[in-house]
Amino acid sequence: MASLRTPILAANWKMNLGPTAASGFFESFLSRYAARADRTVIMFPSAIALSAARHAAQARPDIQFGVQNVHTAEKGAFTGETSVSMAHDAGAQFVLIGHSERRHVFGETDAQTAEKVSRVSAQGLAPMLCVGEKIEEREAGQTNAVVARQLRAALEGLVKQDARAVGPLVIAYEPVWAIGTGRTATPQDASAAHAGIREELRGLSGAAGDTIPILYGGSVTATNASALLAAPGVDGLLVGGASLDPESWAAICSA
Ligand code: PEP
Repeated sequence: MASLRTPILAANWKMNLGPTAASGFFESFLSRYAARADRTVIMFPSAIALSAARHAAQARPDIQFGVQNVHTAEKGAFTGETSVSMAHDAGAQFVLIGHSERRHVFGETDAQTAEKVSRVSAQGLAPMLCVGEKIEEREAGQTNAVVARQLRAALEGLVKQDARAVGPLVIAYEPVWAIGTGRTATPQDASAAHAGIREELRGLSGAAGDTIPILYGGSVTATNASALLAAPGVDGLLVGGASLDPESWAAICSA
């Protein structure tokens, strides 16, 4: 049985599409995708394109926005960084945390990820926490253990204060070997990993763990989106490359 939660379709533009390109994207995308009550669409443009993107989508309150990263400090001498308050002021409702590129390209640790989750939650934005195993971890049969460690590290502090404090929160299962590689997890792979994540979320926060959406991400395209979305336990999709083209993103949002 497919998930009963409203599917979330989230676009991670990474370091692509500046303000001008973002405006052009929305002109095309919004003409191809009409608002739907049975979908939640969240866009993660670069921080510098967020205002232009929001402006271009101002007639469409169904489209929500987030940023791809934040710093844990409120303000100060952190050249190049963005604080949670700044992201909020610019219209972000969500923050991607722990994306595999943050973890493996920029060396972000589990501890930093936890700090970001706490800070973002405390300031009333919703973390979209990314977890996922590397290929060698998968081949060693460690997928569930790695993902459980990442979840516990990021959420334990939050849950200790108050189990209900885990909402609003979204989890994105993104196997590192599937991101930007063209190698997608099968719907069965995704369901198996999502079941492990759901179990861990229940263990961490009891009944509240049932309400947290779990998205799949990793080489999703307009061709494979429907099958992944229909997989048991998959509550939505987080999409990188295929979200940069308005036509393919509109097709994925309508999958
Ligand atoms: C991502 O960056 O979150 C992602 C899933 O990328 P892609 O869809 O390009 O694999």
